[in-house]
Amino acid sequence: MGETITMKDIQEGSVSIMVPEAKIPEYGEVFYNPVMEKDRNISVCVCDLLQEILKKADLKGLGALSATGIRALRYKKESGLDMCANDCNPKAVKLIKKNVKRNKMKMEVTEEDANVLMRNNHFDFIDIDPFGSPISFIDSASASLGRNGFLSITATDTAPLCGSYPKVSERRYGIKSMKTDYYNELGLRILISAVMRIFARYERVFVPYLSYSRLHYFRVYGKVENGVKRVNRLLKEFSYVSHCFKCGWRDMKLEKKCPLCSEATQFCKVYLGDIQNSKFLEKLENRLQKRMFVAEEKLVTKIKEEISFPFYYDLHYLYKKTGKRSDKMEKTMEKIRQKGFHVSRTHFCPTAIKTNATFDDMKEII
Ligand SMILES: [Zn+2]
Repeated sequence: MGETITMKDIQEGSVSIMVPEAKIPEYGEVFYNPVMEKDRNISVCVCDLLQEILKKADLKGLGALSATGIRALRYKKESGLDMCANDCNPKAVKLIKKNVKRNKMKMEVTEEDANVLMRNNHFDFIDIDPFGSPISFIDSASASLGRNGFLSITATDTAPLCGSYPKVSERRYGIKSMKTDYYNELGLRILISAVMRIFARYERVFVPYLSYSRLHYFRVYGKVENGVKRVNRLLKEFSYVSHCFKCGWRDMKLEKKCPLCSEATQFCKVYLGDIQNSKFLEKLENRLQKRMFVAEEKLVTKIKEEISFPFYYDLHYLYKKTGKRSDKMEKTMEKIRQKGFHVSRTHFCPTAIKTNATFDDMKEII
C-alpha cells in the first residue's frame, strides 16, 4: 500500500501515452500490455471498415474496459471513429483523461461499471478487452449493440478454454473443454459458441468475421444482427466433437466409445461453422497493407489461406500416437493432396495441418 507506481512514456501507432511500468497486471492498478500492439494495429484497420460493414455513418464506439485508453485513443486518432473510453477504476479514468490531453484530443471518458454503461447506452461498436474472460459482458453488449453492431472481444483465460481446467470452462462457458492436440481451435470455438448462445437469447446472431489465437489470448471480431430464422440456422451448425485420448481418434459426431480402440471418449458440443469471413479478411489485408502493418498482414493472410474445415492434426501428436516415423510437413501435405483431400497449414499451431481427411485416412497416409 502507498507505493507509487512508476510511469513511463510510450509511443504506439500515432499516439503517445503514459503507462504504468508493471510487467504483469496488479490488483487495482492500471495495466498496459505491449505485446498486444500487433493486435491493436489489426483493430485500427477493423475500425477503418466499420462504416462499410454496418452501412451506417456517424458510428459511436466504446472501449468498455479501457485501462490506459490506448485502444480508444488509437481508434479515434488513426481511424477517425468517435470513441468513448470507459473504465470502472478511478485510477484508470484519471490516466485516460491525462492521455487524451497529451494527444490534444477530445474524447468522452466515463467511470462506470461497463455492464451498467452498456445497458443504458447504445453503441455501434464495442471492444471488450479484459484481463481474463469477456463472457460476463456479453449480455449487456447485446443490449447496447441492438440489431446492427460490431463486437470485438479478447479472452486471456485460455487455460480453462483449452482444456487445462475443463470444469471452469463448463461453469463459465457452458461447455467442458478438452485438452486435445487441436486445443487452440477448440478453445476458441468454445468461446465463440458461448457468445453465440448469449446473443441467441435475444434473437440475435453473432457472425464471426475474424477469429484467432495468438500468444496467450484469443481474439474474435464479429457482426451482430437480428433475426429468429438466422439464429435457428446458426444453432444448427452446433455439433459434437468426440475424442479418444488413448489412440488419438476424433470425429465431428457423438461417439461415446472409440470405434478404433473401444476406449470411452470425451466429447463436447460446439459451433462448427465458419469462424472467418473471407471477404472481410481480404479487405482487412488491404487496409493492413496500406498502413504498412507487415507482420499483421502476414497473420491475416495465413488465416485467409487456411481451409475452413474445423480443427487440425498436430503432426507431432499424430506420429506419437500412431508410432509412425515422422516425415517432413510438406511431404505429408503432398501425400494428403494426392489422396484428393484439402489441406493447409494453420496459424493455430506451427506443427499442425488442417484437412478434411478423417483420422483413419490420416493414419493410412502417414
Ligand atoms: Zn481410441
